[in-house]
Amino acid sequence: MDDFINNTLLKLTSFLKGKEFPLHVPSFNQKEQDLVLDCIKTGWVSSVGSYVDQLERDLETYTGIKKCVVVMNGTAALHICYMSSGVKENDEVLCPSLTFVATANAIRYCDAIPHFVEIEKDTLGVCPIKLRKYLSEIGRIKNGVLFNKNTDRRISALAITHIFGHPAKLEELKQLCDEYSIALIEDAAEGLGSFYRGIHVGNFGKCAALSFNGNKIITTGGGGAVLTNDEELGIKIKHLTTTAKVGHSWLYVYDQLGYNYRMPNINAALGCAQLSKIEDFILTKRKIADCYLELFREETDAFIMKEPEFCRSNYWLNTLVLNNEDQDTIKCLLEKTHSHKIFTRPLWRPLHLLTHFKDCPRMSLELTEKMEHSLLNLPSSVEILDETC
Ligand SMILES: *Cc1c(COP(=O)(O)O)cnc(C)c1O
Repeated sequence: MDDFINNTLLKLTSFLKGKEFPLHVPSFNQKEQDLVLDCIKTGWVSSVGSYVDQLERDLETYTGIKKCVVVMNGTAALHICYMSSGVKENDEVLCPSLTFVATANAIRYCDAIPHFVEIEKDTLGVCPIKLRKYLSEIGRIKNGVLFNKNTDRRISALAITHIFGHPAKLEELKQLCDEYSIALIEDAAEGLGSFYRGIHVGNFGKCAALSFNGNKIITTGGGGAVLTNDEELGIKIKHLTTTAKVGHSWLYVYDQLGYNYRMPNINAALGCAQLSKIEDFILTKRKIADCYLELFREETDAFIMKEPEFCRSNYWLNTLVLNNEDQDTIKCLLEKTHSHKIFTRPLWRPLHLLTHFKDCPRMSLELTEKMEHSLLNLPSSVEILDETC
């Protein structure tokens, strides 16, 4: 493995020209400055202002979704997604263990229980084949409602993540959810700009969440959005995320328990500038992915993850996948790349191994556990192209 490690380091340092590269940083120019400055000059920096509306409408146009509601971060968006999809206290929500912790944390915010399910190799998303088999074993339908035979709890939804911007097997997963009458929730936090058979991710389930955190493909500083094709639900979501205030010029009346999850106008202004450039970012990211693919084309011990069949991925992060899991190799690669200021990252710890999720129900997660020690994310910011190619 030493040869592989040294060769990999050599490839990366030569491609990155010995320069320092973080995993992912945002790209700004005059446009961001102009719009943010406009908020400051006009005083519209906070919870109301025209950029919030503009960002919502621009996201609707870009993703083809009927209703978009922007919020203060992706985690809040997920919380609203679960709440709005009928997830109730004590329900189980099927969810990958291989995802960012927020996917499962937000299930707990609803006092529901994550039920971890296995992924598949091609997309690193939830495996529809294994899940179908598993549900046929542990599921019981009572009056059209799915229950977990072993715990007697209702299973109300399936959450899926489009890992690193690669769409999961959406058609098959949607089909499975329809058969069992459970809600599909897409954690599309990493997937803005990714399409499945020409349809933007986030359009397939009941609700979807986006994130515009600083490390995502576009950023609003901190921010997120809820997407839904159910227009009536979209209106309810807007109400719920804006403290459930009843519209009135001066009265303070609230008609339900609401949340102050709204995105400030100044963040939305940043988002409008960023979104207008997303297709340029993706073009650049696809070129960076091509460079990495070429760099590791003849490698026999590892490969670069490619966009799944029928998809256009945004290639948010590039991923080197080892053919054989090896904790020591990944550890050594992390150490060596970091000592050369190439800030690679390992995969998240699978969630079922975290203390606060250790007692959650789960299926066999062999591949998930194997992947923890098989993946390395490579620097993928758009600036890499200007400075290398
Ligand atoms: C970034 C991310 C989130 C959460 O987004 P925040 O805006 O940081 O709260 C959720 N899920 C996934 C898969 C993410 O990558």
